[in-house]
Amino acid sequence: MVYNSLILLWQYLFIAIFNFKDELGFEKREILLILGVLFLMIGMMAILAPIYAVIIAILVYFGIRVFVGRRKKQLLQSLGQGVCAICGAKIINNKCPNCDAISDENNKS
Ligand SMILES: [Zn+2]
Repeated sequence: MVYNSLILLWQYLFIAIFNFKDELGFEKREILLILGVLFLMIGMMAILAPIYAVIIAILVYFGIRVFVGRRKKQLLQSLGQGVCAICGAKIINNKCPNCDAISDENNKS
């Protein structure tokens, strides 16, 4: 079947890309995402008309891109000021809520 040879081709490509390491300048996660969507597209082509499979694959790709982008943004916001080197708590207003509170108490007494 045509699909079997297509899947075989993608498997070869998959291995080839991983042997490339980061020479292409891509993020590996990006490659994985693209390959995942391509596999999905090939799978859908067995059931759906190719044009629908392509449209759905593109929608899924951008959907995941937007989702990952938002997650990254949220993570950067929550870790934007870094974490305390001593206890690992989130830094708020350049102060650790745990360690700086303790040292403040020590300074008072
Ligand atoms: Zn701390």
